[in-house]
Parts: sequence; C-alpha cells; structure tokens
Amino acid sequence: SAPPIETDAVIIGAGPVGLFQVFELGLLDIKAHVIDSLSHLGGQCVELYPDKPIYDIPAVPMCTGQELTDNLLKQIEPFKPTFHLGQDVTELQRQDDGRFVVRTSKDTTLLTKTVFIAAGVGSFQPRTLKVEGLDAFEGTQLFYRVKNPAVFAGKNLVVVGGGDSALDWALHFAQDDAHRAESVILVHRRDGFRAAPASVAKMHALCEQHAMQFVVGQITGFEADGDGRLSQVKLTGNDGITRRLPLDMLLVFFGLSPKLGPIAHWGLDLERKQILVDTEKFQTNIPGIFAVGDINTYPGKKKLILSGFHEAALAAFGAAHTIFPDKKIHLQYTTTSPKLHKVLGVE
Ligand code: FAD
Repeated sequence: SAPPIETDAVIIGAGPVGLFQVFELGLLDIKAHVIDSLSHLGGQCVELYPDKPIYDIPAVPMCTGQELTDNLLKQIEPFKPTFHLGQDVTELQRQDDGRFVVRTSKDTTLLTKTVFIAAGVGSFQPRTLKVEGLDAFEGTQLFYRVKNPAVFAGKNLVVVGGGDSALDWALHFAQDDAHRAESVILVHRRDGFRAAPASVAKMHALCEQHAMQFVVGQITGFEADGDGRLSQVKLTGNDGITRRLPLDMLLVFFGLSPKLGPIAHWGLDLERKQILVDTEKFQTNIPGIFAVGDINTYPGKKKLILSGFHEAALAAFGAAHTIFPDKKIHLQYTTTSPKLHKVLGVE
C-alpha cells in the first residue's frame, strides 16, 4: 500500500466544529487533513437539517444548516485543507515516536502529530434491514448504497424504502438507457413517501406503463437456492399475507443513523459514549488527541455549535505546543496582526 501521508493535524469529522477546527489551526500555521464518512461536508447540519434555520450562531441572526456550512467553507478556504470524504476512520494507533497512524475504510493512511476528533454523534451509517441471516448477502446481493450502478443493469431488482434515495434509484434502474434493469419492484411499508412529489408521480406513471412495480409491504424473510444465492424475499403485506418476490439483487434505503463505531476502541476515556476532555485544551486522556463538538463531554457541556467553536479555538492552542514545542504561541487578533493577515491571504 501507499506510504502514509505525513501531516501535523488530522480532523475526524467535517461537521461545523471540524470545519471551524481547520480555521483555528490555520491561524496558528497548522495545516489539516479532514476525514468524513459522508460524501458531503457539514455533518448533522447538512445531513439532518440543510434547510432549517439556525438562530443562535453569534452575530448571524439566522442561517440554514447548508448556509452555515457554505460560510464555514468560505472562511477556511485560505487554509486549503485536504478532504478525504466517503470514508470512515477505522484505526487510530499511537506510534513509539508519539505520532499517530490514522487509517480509513478506503485505506487512506495518515501519519500525524495531533488528532482532533470532531465526530459529533458518530459516523452516519445506513440503517440496515433487520431480517435474520440476510446480512450474509451484503455486498453481493444486498446493498445499502450504490457505488457502481452498472452492477445492477439487466438484473431483477427489489428496491426497499420510501425516501428520495429509494425513489431515485428505482426510477434510475427502471428507465436509464445505460443501466436499465430487467425488472424493478419498489417496496415500501405504506403508500406514502418522504420523497420529492415529482419522483413519486414519475414512479406511479412508470408503474402504469408496466416499466416497474410498486408493492406495499415489509420484507420479513428470504429463500436461498442450492448454491447459497439469495433467490427470493418474502414480503408481508398490510393484509397480513406473505408473498414471494424472486430477485437477483436487493437494494435497501432506510436512511442513515449515527454510530460511534471504532472510536469506542481507541483507548479513550468515555462517559456515556462521549469522550472525556479537559476544559483547558479539550485534550483527551491520550496526549495529542483532542475532542471537540458534540462528541466530547465535560462538566457543564452543552451540545451547541457555538460551544464547539470555542472548544476548537482552545484545542488549536493546546495542539500548537505539541506541534511546535520550542515556539512561544501568542494570541493575536485577526483585525490587527500582520502575521494573521498573511496566513489569511488578506495582506
Ligand atoms: P456533527 O455535525 O455531528 O459532525 C460529525 C461528523 O463526523 C459527521 O459528518 C460524521 O459523519 C463524521 N464522523 C463521525 N465518526 C466518524 C468516523 N469514524 N470516520 C469518519 N467520519 C466520522 N445546534 C445549535 O447550536 N443551534 C441549533 O439551532 C441547532 N439545531 C439543530 C437542529 C437539529 C434538527 C439537530 C439534529 C441538531 C441541531 N443542533 C443545533 C445541534 C448541532 O447540529 C450540533 O451541535 C453540531 O452539528 C455538532 O457539530 P459537530 O461538528 O460536533 O458534529
């Protein structure tokens, strides 16, 4: 595998606090790599409430989750962080020289002097279909995300879910010239959707043209054939009757839910799934590893974006001593400091 990327700081999580951590580190001349399991930036603000207004960001009377993220990205632009998206941090190991090896699910490996865990409520992972034994087919015939749509072309597909992802992919495989499936059956537990009305209308139109089917019900079991391949799923309708749907592949879109995941196994002191930190540097029990934002806890902790911003500032100062042990770190104002103007590119 490729040699590790050497850096001064790795930030785990690209929510509002992880993004502002880039800024606070940047002011102290520390460049950062940022990793997130989502393929987009902004954490909860973008994943859970992109269009909802936030009213308690200091000096910003109102902005939406997406606007807050866009503004943070603009603010950190001068510091040119490197983003590694769509990958979970799976490993964090301390080396003998005090540095840390950080490894992700896409085999990105970084060697860093400091780590900032800004992992919020955990990494967003697809909610799974709870049918005993079905997980054995994950990655071969059962999928929670589409990485390569070509894999599904010409296949008999059952698509489960009632949100935009389920509708979008069902429509895609029912009508796309390059990826058209042999058949598409959309399954949802009720005849009502949390998806764009235009997509729902299109789905009904395609059903009328017999280009796909929609069935109300829940997957409650499955059958495998002699070769151990998933051959049928059992679908229990609201009438209580169980029917069988033959298929090649099952696509499930039940949305995402956050999981603490591997962070629990890195030797950090935890309290009720939160990382314990001091309130001087927001450092964990492992020197060089800091935790900021919703993931940390300390007496009086409030899970607010503004608290996370304050934590990021003090954590950056805390880390500066580790990264530049011989340098005296002074507090400087962005308004008046020529040095800060230089790093901000506003000379
Ligand atoms: P998050 O936003 O949770 O981001 C953490 C990121 O880390 C995620 O993107 C996740 O995918 C990633 N991650 C986690 N683990 C890993 C891993 N192992 N590998 C890779 N990536 C990982 N707060 C306010 O101050 N004001 C409000 O008005 C407000 N309104 C809210 C409304 C709603 C509906 C909700 C749900 C929350 C609201 N909040 C509000 C809370 C606010 O959104 C959180 O405090 C904030 O998002 C925390 O930011 P964060 O950067 O710490 O974590």
